[in-house]
Amino acid sequence: MELDPVSLTLEELMQMDALALHHLAKKSAGTLTRYQALLGRLLLAIERTGAHLEHGCSGGVHYAVMQLGLPVKKARLLIRVARELEGLPYLRYLANAGEIEWSKLREIVRVATPESERDWAQLCSDRTYAEIEDLVARSQWGEIPDDQQVRNGPRSEFRCRFDPDQMAVLERGLQAMCQQAGRALSMAEAIEMLFAEKLSERPVDDKQLERVRQAALKDLRWTDVIGAETESVGVEIVNPKSRVPSKAQRRAILRRDGYCCAVPGCPNTLWLEVHHIIFYADGGLTKPENLITICSKCHKNVHEGRLKILGDAPRGARFLNEFGRDIRQERTLETAFWLDIWCGWRGTEFDRRYLRLREDRAPAA
Ligand SMILES: [Zn+2]
Repeated sequence: MELDPVSLTLEELMQMDALALHHLAKKSAGTLTRYQALLGRLLLAIERTGAHLEHGCSGGVHYAVMQLGLPVKKARLLIRVARELEGLPYLRYLANAGEIEWSKLREIVRVATPESERDWAQLCSDRTYAEIEDLVARSQWGEIPDDQQVRNGPRSEFRCRFDPDQMAVLERGLQAMCQQAGRALSMAEAIEMLFAEKLSERPVDDKQLERVRQAALKDLRWTDVIGAETESVGVEIVNPKSRVPSKAQRRAILRRDGYCCAVPGCPNTLWLEVHHIIFYADGGLTKPENLITICSKCHKNVHEGRLKILGDAPRGARFLNEFGRDIRQERTLETAFWLDIWCGWRGTEFDRRYLRLREDRAPAA
């Protein structure tokens, strides 16, 4: 009689060598797949022959829940995989032989076809479950992920709702763009192209599109690291005597300042302007350390005398309010005051955060 490995106790297993344990573990994992696939096929057969009616159940899933105690989700999954495996001979063979992991199998049957099943099986043996899950999510039915996709990060899904009349504009616009491009564009490609044109302020071809992508990636990276080393990076001095910064220079300044108004406490990220710290009219040059990003409101305050900016951008810049007080320090005090009230303090009246900070300042002032 053949030994049934299920009868082996923990003690017996612990006496085995590493290789034997590995083989048994692999066999067990394979058995899980084999029996999950078998159970799915059984449920499908029960459903198709009407055997579930004998048990007073309405279908295969109902039968699996009532008679086998499976969760609904699991029952649905088993039946789905079994149904899909019927059209996939190679994957069915691997499943029956226990040579593929169940978790990966249940993912790839969503997208595999008889033409692509071997490639998917190959991917399963090279990749982790998380990678397979991600690749399946990014693939269409019948599609095999290419190296590019395997390398790229996850794809994002972007959903929005449109009214019928908005949708009409979108569809008509997409048609027009396809005609112009001379090929079919997906909505994703079309949207990217429109935004790229917006960013580069002119029509884009494939080469320019790539450039816009790289610039956008760079911008996102800079916005992520505001406060890190962003000193004058990539800001070229084009012509310090020209009154208006060049487009490239403007972009670089905005990037350096993290696309946000540089005035402490001002949260504006829209209506940004590049300002000369020493006014151009007073001999200020158009060079990175004399240029700073501020919003139109703060810009107005500067030119109306309520805000004064001194020093070199971006690190050395100081901002004074109409009473000549340093806005950054005022803001730190304001924050300390807020913290005292909102978080409370455990000491006496005289060691509040606000007072501590103000006293630190006092000798210097
Ligand atoms: Zn501002």
